[in-house]
Amino acid sequence: GDEQPVLRLANVESAYGPVKAIRGVSLQVRRGEIATVLGSNGSGKTTILKTISGIIDPLKGSVEFKGENITARDPAYIVQQGLSHVPEGREVFPLLSVRDNLAMGAYTRKDRDAVARDMEAVFSYFPILRERASQDAGLLSGGQQQMLSISRAIMAASEVILLDEPSLGLSPKLTKEIFEIVVRINRERGTTLLLVEQNANMALNAADYGYVLENGRIVMEDDCARLREKEDIKEFYLGMK
Ligand code: ATP
Repeated sequence: GDEQPVLRLANVESAYGPVKAIRGVSLQVRRGEIATVLGSNGSGKTTILKTISGIIDPLKGSVEFKGENITARDPAYIVQQGLSHVPEGREVFPLLSVRDNLAMGAYTRKDRDAVARDMEAVFSYFPILRERASQDAGLLSGGQQQMLSISRAIMAASEVILLDEPSLGLSPKLTKEIFEIVVRINRERGTTLLLVEQNANMALNAADYGYVLENGRIVMEDDCARLREKEDIKEFYLGMK
Protein backbone atom coordinates (compact mmCIF):
# COMPACT_ATOMS: atom_id res chain seq x y z
CA GLY A 1 0.00 0.00 0.00
CA ASP A 2 0.99 3.64 0.31
CA GLU A 3 1.88 3.35 3.99
CA GLN A 4 5.06 5.13 5.05
CA PRO A 5 7.98 2.82 5.89
CA VAL A 6 8.51 2.48 9.64
CA LEU A 7 12.26 2.96 9.17
CA ARG A 8 13.93 4.96 6.44
CA LEU A 9 17.59 5.79 5.80
CA ALA A 10 18.42 8.41 3.18
CA ASN A 11 21.95 8.89 1.85
CA VAL A 12 23.63 7.94 5.09
CA GLU A 13 27.39 8.22 5.36
CA SER A 14 29.26 7.14 8.51
CA ALA A 15 32.96 6.95 9.27
CA TYR A 16 35.46 6.02 11.95
CA GLY A 17 37.86 8.93 11.85
CA PRO A 18 39.22 8.99 8.30
CA VAL A 19 37.76 5.56 7.44
CA LYS A 20 34.43 5.82 5.60
CA ALA A 21 32.46 2.73 6.54
CA ILE A 22 29.17 3.38 4.70
CA ARG A 23 28.39 5.80 1.87
CA GLY A 24 25.12 6.98 0.44
CA VAL A 25 23.11 4.22 2.10
CA SER A 26 19.37 4.51 1.49
CA LEU A 27 17.00 1.82 2.64
CA GLN A 28 13.47 1.37 3.85
CA VAL A 29 11.83 -1.13 6.13
CA ARG A 30 8.07 -1.57 6.04
CA ARG A 31 6.08 -2.23 9.18
CA GLY A 32 5.62 -5.96 9.85
CA GLU A 33 8.32 -7.18 7.49
CA ILE A 34 11.70 -8.78 7.99
CA ALA A 35 14.34 -6.93 6.01
CA THR A 36 17.92 -8.03 5.69
CA VAL A 37 21.25 -6.49 4.76
CA LEU A 38 23.68 -9.02 3.33
CA GLY A 39 27.35 -8.38 2.93
CA SER A 40 30.74 -9.87 3.58
CA ASN A 41 32.95 -9.17 6.56
CA GLY A 42 33.76 -5.45 6.81
CA SER A 43 31.20 -4.32 4.23
CA GLY A 44 29.59 -1.99 6.79
CA LYS A 45 26.60 -3.95 8.09
CA THR A 46 27.25 -3.29 11.77
CA THR A 47 27.88 0.38 11.02
CA ILE A 48 24.40 0.68 9.48
CA LEU A 49 22.80 -0.68 12.65
CA LYS A 50 24.95 1.49 14.93
CA THR A 51 23.99 4.55 12.92
CA ILE A 52 20.28 3.73 13.20
CA SER A 53 20.40 3.11 16.95
CA GLY A 54 22.36 6.30 17.66
CA ILE A 55 25.65 4.72 18.71
CA ILE A 56 27.37 6.44 15.76
CA ASP A 57 26.41 9.87 14.42
CA PRO A 58 26.46 9.93 10.62
CA LEU A 59 28.42 12.54 8.69
CA LYS A 60 25.62 12.87 6.16
CA GLY A 61 22.09 11.71 5.55
CA SER A 62 19.12 10.99 7.76
CA VAL A 63 17.44 8.24 9.74
CA GLU A 64 13.67 8.39 10.15
CA PHE A 65 11.70 6.17 12.53
CA LYS A 66 7.89 6.27 12.42
CA GLY A 67 8.13 9.49 10.45
CA GLU A 68 10.35 11.20 13.02
CA ASN A 69 13.88 12.29 12.22
CA ILE A 70 16.00 10.42 14.81
CA THR A 71 19.38 11.10 13.19
CA ALA A 72 22.07 11.23 15.88
CA ARG A 73 19.54 11.17 18.73
CA ASP A 74 20.57 9.67 22.04
CA PRO A 75 20.44 5.82 21.94
CA ALA A 76 18.27 5.70 25.10
CA TYR A 77 15.74 8.01 23.46
CA ILE A 78 15.62 5.80 20.37
CA VAL A 79 14.97 2.67 22.48
CA GLN A 80 12.16 4.58 24.21
CA GLN A 81 10.52 5.21 20.84
CA GLY A 82 10.36 1.44 20.23
CA LEU A 83 13.53 0.63 18.33
CA SER A 84 16.00 -1.84 19.92
CA HIS A 85 19.42 -3.01 18.79
CA VAL A 86 20.60 -6.56 19.54
CA PRO A 87 24.34 -6.17 19.02
CA GLU A 88 26.85 -8.63 17.68
CA GLY A 89 28.26 -10.39 20.75
CA ARG A 90 24.95 -10.06 22.63
CA GLU A 91 26.12 -7.99 25.62
CA VAL A 92 24.00 -9.44 28.41
CA PHE A 93 24.68 -8.42 32.03
CA PRO A 94 26.74 -11.48 33.09
CA LEU A 95 26.38 -11.01 36.86
CA LEU A 96 22.61 -10.50 36.79
CA SER A 97 20.20 -13.41 36.64
CA VAL A 98 18.38 -14.22 33.42
CA ARG A 99 15.16 -12.89 34.95
CA ASP A 100 16.82 -9.63 36.01
CA ASN A 101 18.30 -9.19 32.54
CA LEU A 102 14.79 -9.50 31.14
CA ALA A 103 13.41 -7.07 33.74
CA MET A 104 16.14 -4.56 32.77
CA GLY A 105 14.79 -4.62 29.23
CA ALA A 106 11.41 -3.45 30.54
CA TYR A 107 12.54 -1.03 33.23
CA THR A 108 10.91 2.08 31.73
CA ARG A 109 7.56 0.40 31.05
CA LYS A 110 4.65 1.33 33.30
CA ASP A 111 2.11 -1.37 32.43
CA ARG A 112 3.25 -4.21 34.70
CA ASP A 113 0.59 -6.62 33.40
CA ALA A 114 1.83 -6.15 29.85
CA VAL A 115 5.41 -6.66 31.04
CA ALA A 116 4.39 -9.92 32.78
CA ARG A 117 2.65 -11.08 29.59
CA ASP A 118 5.76 -10.34 27.54
CA MET A 119 7.90 -12.26 30.05
CA GLU A 120 5.58 -15.26 29.55
CA ALA A 121 5.82 -14.84 25.77
CA VAL A 122 9.62 -14.80 25.96
CA PHE A 123 9.61 -18.00 28.03
CA SER A 124 7.30 -19.66 25.50
CA TYR A 125 9.69 -18.77 22.64
CA PHE A 126 12.78 -19.78 24.62
CA PRO A 127 11.82 -22.38 27.29
CA ILE A 128 15.47 -22.78 28.31
CA LEU A 129 15.40 -19.20 29.65
CA ARG A 130 12.58 -20.12 32.03
CA GLU A 131 14.56 -23.13 33.23
CA ARG A 132 17.60 -20.95 33.84
CA ALA A 133 15.74 -17.82 35.02
CA SER A 134 17.51 -17.69 38.39
CA GLN A 135 21.01 -18.33 37.08
CA ASP A 136 23.57 -15.66 36.22
CA ALA A 137 23.37 -14.74 32.54
CA GLY A 138 27.14 -15.09 32.30
CA LEU A 139 26.73 -18.83 32.76
CA LEU A 140 24.56 -19.22 29.65
CA SER A 141 25.97 -20.67 26.44
CA GLY A 142 26.52 -18.37 23.45
CA GLY A 143 23.25 -19.44 21.86
CA GLN A 144 21.33 -18.93 25.09
CA GLN A 145 22.85 -15.45 25.47
CA GLN A 146 21.68 -14.69 21.94
CA MET A 147 18.18 -15.81 22.98
CA LEU A 148 18.36 -13.60 26.07
CA SER A 149 19.53 -10.62 24.08
CA ILE A 150 16.63 -10.99 21.61
CA SER A 151 14.27 -11.48 24.55
CA ARG A 152 15.44 -8.25 26.18
CA ALA A 153 14.45 -6.40 23.02
CA ILE A 154 10.99 -7.99 23.26
CA MET A 155 10.79 -6.90 26.91
CA ALA A 156 11.47 -3.32 25.79
CA ALA A 157 8.20 -3.48 23.78
CA SER A 158 10.16 -2.94 20.58
CA GLU A 159 8.24 -2.27 17.39
CA VAL A 160 11.45 -2.67 15.41
CA ILE A 161 14.40 -4.88 16.36
CA LEU A 162 17.82 -4.50 14.75
CA LEU A 163 19.55 -7.87 14.84
CA ASP A 164 23.30 -8.05 14.23
CA GLU A 165 24.59 -11.43 13.00
CA PRO A 166 22.43 -13.72 15.12
CA SER A 167 24.24 -16.74 13.64
CA LEU A 168 27.70 -15.62 14.80
CA GLY A 169 29.49 -18.43 16.62
CA LEU A 170 26.46 -20.72 16.67
CA SER A 171 26.16 -24.25 15.29
CA PRO A 172 24.06 -24.66 12.12
CA LYS A 173 21.38 -26.41 14.17
CA LEU A 174 21.15 -23.62 16.74
CA THR A 175 21.26 -20.98 14.01
CA LYS A 176 18.28 -22.64 12.35
CA GLU A 177 16.37 -22.72 15.65
CA ILE A 178 17.05 -19.04 16.36
CA PHE A 179 15.96 -18.04 12.86
CA GLU A 180 12.74 -20.04 13.18
CA ILE A 181 11.90 -18.22 16.39
CA VAL A 182 12.80 -14.84 14.92
CA VAL A 183 10.30 -15.54 12.13
CA ARG A 184 7.67 -16.61 14.71
CA ILE A 185 8.22 -13.39 16.68
CA ASN A 186 7.68 -11.44 13.46
CA ARG A 187 4.53 -13.38 12.47
CA GLU A 188 2.93 -13.68 15.91
CA ARG A 189 3.79 -10.29 17.41
CA GLY A 190 4.03 -8.23 14.24
CA THR A 191 7.51 -7.10 15.26
CA THR A 192 9.45 -5.57 12.38
CA LEU A 193 13.02 -6.78 12.01
CA LEU A 194 16.12 -5.54 10.29
CA LEU A 195 18.63 -8.34 10.26
CA VAL A 196 22.24 -8.12 9.13
CA GLU A 197 23.96 -11.37 8.27
CA GLN A 198 26.93 -12.99 6.63
CA ASN A 199 24.91 -16.20 6.49
CA ALA A 200 23.04 -15.25 3.31
CA ASN A 201 21.27 -18.56 3.06
CA MET A 202 19.54 -18.23 6.44
CA ALA A 203 18.84 -14.53 5.98
CA LEU A 204 17.31 -14.86 2.51
CA ASN A 205 15.04 -17.65 3.69
CA ALA A 206 13.82 -15.76 6.75
CA ALA A 207 13.48 -12.26 5.31
CA ASP A 208 10.98 -10.66 2.95
CA TYR A 209 13.16 -7.96 1.45
CA GLY A 210 16.93 -7.74 1.11
CA TYR A 211 19.74 -5.30 0.43
CA VAL A 212 23.24 -6.27 -0.64
CA LEU A 213 26.07 -4.17 0.76
CA GLU A 214 29.54 -4.06 -0.78
CA ASN A 215 32.26 -1.73 0.46
CA GLY A 216 29.79 0.44 2.31
CA ARG A 217 27.39 0.87 -0.62
CA ILE A 218 24.12 -0.83 -1.41
CA VAL A 219 24.61 -2.48 -4.79
CA MET A 220 21.37 -4.46 -5.08
CA GLU A 221 17.94 -4.72 -3.48
CA ASP A 222 14.89 -6.86 -4.13
CA ASP A 223 12.38 -9.25 -2.63
CA CYS A 224 14.33 -12.11 -1.08
CA ALA A 225 12.56 -14.65 -3.28
CA ARG A 226 14.00 -12.82 -6.30
CA LEU A 227 17.43 -12.27 -4.76
CA ARG A 228 17.74 -16.01 -4.19
CA GLU A 229 17.38 -16.59 -7.93
CA LYS A 230 19.99 -14.05 -9.06
CA GLU A 231 23.18 -15.56 -10.45
CA ASP A 232 25.50 -13.10 -8.63
CA ILE A 233 23.85 -13.87 -5.32
CA LYS A 234 24.03 -17.62 -5.91
CA GLU A 235 27.67 -17.37 -6.83
CA PHE A 236 29.03 -14.89 -4.26
CA TYR A 237 26.69 -15.24 -1.30
CA LEU A 238 25.13 -18.69 -1.47
CA GLY A 239 28.22 -20.54 -2.69
CA MET A 240 26.24 -22.41 -5.34
CA LYS A 241 28.92 -22.38 -8.06
P1 ATP B 1 31.59 -7.58 10.45
O1 ATP B 1 30.76 -8.68 9.97
O2 ATP B 1 33.04 -7.91 10.55
O3 ATP B 1 31.07 -6.87 11.68
P2 ATP B 1 30.48 -5.43 8.96
O4 ATP B 1 29.94 -5.65 7.61
O5 ATP B 1 29.51 -5.35 10.08
O6 ATP B 1 31.56 -6.52 9.27
P3 ATP B 1 31.50 -2.95 9.94
O7 ATP B 1 31.82 -3.53 11.28
O8 ATP B 1 30.34 -2.05 9.82
O9 ATP B 1 31.35 -4.12 8.88
O10 ATP B 1 32.81 -2.23 9.41
C1 ATP B 1 32.86 -1.45 8.21
C2 ATP B 1 34.24 -0.86 8.03
O11 ATP B 1 34.55 0.02 9.10
C3 ATP B 1 35.35 -1.90 8.02
O12 ATP B 1 36.31 -1.49 7.08
C4 ATP B 1 35.92 -1.84 9.42
O13 ATP B 1 37.29 -2.17 9.43
C5 ATP B 1 35.72 -0.37 9.77
N1 ATP B 1 35.50 -0.21 11.22
C6 ATP B 1 34.53 -0.78 11.95
N2 ATP B 1 34.60 -0.40 13.25
C7 ATP B 1 35.64 0.46 13.33
C8 ATP B 1 36.23 1.21 14.40
N3 ATP B 1 35.74 1.16 15.64
N4 ATP B 1 37.33 1.97 14.11
C9 ATP B 1 37.82 2.02 12.85
N5 ATP B 1 37.32 1.35 11.81
C10 ATP B 1 36.24 0.58 12.03
